[in-house]
Amino acid sequence: MTKINKNYLDLKENYLFYDVACKVKKYSAENPDKNIIRLGIGDVTLPLAPAVISALHSAVDDMSRAETFKGYGAEQGYGFLKDAIVSYYADRNIAIKADEVFISDGAKSDIGNILDIFGKDNVVLVPDPVYPVYVDTNIMDGRKIKYISANTENNFLPLPDENTEADIIYICTPNNPTGAVYNKDQLKVWVDFANSKNAVILFDAAYEAFVSDPSLPRSIFEIEGARTCAIEFCSFSKTAGFTGTRCAYTIVPEELSFDGTKLNGMWLRRQTTKFNGVSYIVQTGAAAVFTKDGMKQIKENINYYRENAKTITDTLDRLGIWYCGGVNSPYIWFKCPDNMGSWEFFDKLLSEANVVGTPGEGFGENGKGFFRLTSFSSHENTVEAMRRFEKLFKKD
Ligand code: PLP
Repeated sequence: MTKINKNYLDLKENYLFYDVACKVKKYSAENPDKNIIRLGIGDVTLPLAPAVISALHSAVDDMSRAETFKGYGAEQGYGFLKDAIVSYYADRNIAIKADEVFISDGAKSDIGNILDIFGKDNVVLVPDPVYPVYVDTNIMDGRKIKYISANTENNFLPLPDENTEADIIYICTPNNPTGAVYNKDQLKVWVDFANSKNAVILFDAAYEAFVSDPSLPRSIFEIEGARTCAIEFCSFSKTAGFTGTRCAYTIVPEELSFDGTKLNGMWLRRQTTKFNGVSYIVQTGAAAVFTKDGMKQIKENINYYRENAKTITDTLDRLGIWYCGGVNSPYIWFKCPDNMGSWEFFDKLLSEANVVGTPGEGFGENGKGFFRLTSFSSHENTVEAMRRFEKLFKKD
């Protein structure tokens, strides 16, 4: 008889955004006249940059001519895109090599797939609250998960202490869901800890482009010692609006090795066996992000979202609500007013302001009583949503 992977039975039944979508669907079916504004899911709304569009068109044309047609490419990505990424890091004084860069169809896939190269008996350390993918992908493999508490006392930026145990450590900064960002000294504590424990850091830099404070790190490789303990995941999704186009990259330094085996070689073996690369067309579009025009245009889009974040944080400031994130991140994480629970607050915001956000509780125990809004909507919708929000919670 076929045996199933019983670890799947340990997963929570529904994915957070599915629960949210069901509630919103039910409410809008019962209230068809209401204008519901969605500030919940972290999906972008602005179109791709013109430089990307034009590169995509020309790549399509390449596919129409025998001389420029492309079949299978290297599983780990085309040299032109890997070189562009190497230069993007070099511009920030971070030295990486093209062979350390692996192109993929998404950071989510890589974050899940990387677990193929790690044993099942590793202790996994994730912050609570957390991007649910880190937890669920480990549950699927039956790994033991430990949580490190992110809370208002540590500004949602937990650090290890002498009792912290870990073989695989997840760090996401700027963080989803909290929007909190580690500074260099704090990341150095994690890097030193990982090196001392012979542990690996899986560093999720999906939101690096939203960091506006130049003193804050955007890559783990800005930190001395990271090359012997960290893998970095980054994505074009939020940086350049590729959520529907799909392209990302993972950096595995050559120095990184455990049990005498280099992880770079293991990941190469894994990718060449189970993955056949990202399409030439998409990689050509992604490379255009790093051109002068591309960089300028994606920065304009990011600034647009930053203005939305400011509209949200200004409202929370006026209402005296505790929050973090928003300045160097597209996410704003705040304490629900009047000590409400996060699902209770979700229902109130939906039914009385017709605004959808994400209950913090869906990201872990420590998210209870917190709520996440995103800056990815339009200016008009963000301003209107926050006008309704302020009206609802203003104390006179
Ligand atoms: N990492 C984090 C922290 C995210 O929030 C997301 C998407 O929301 C991803 C990774 C996934 O990125 P991608 O679209 O490249 O799969």
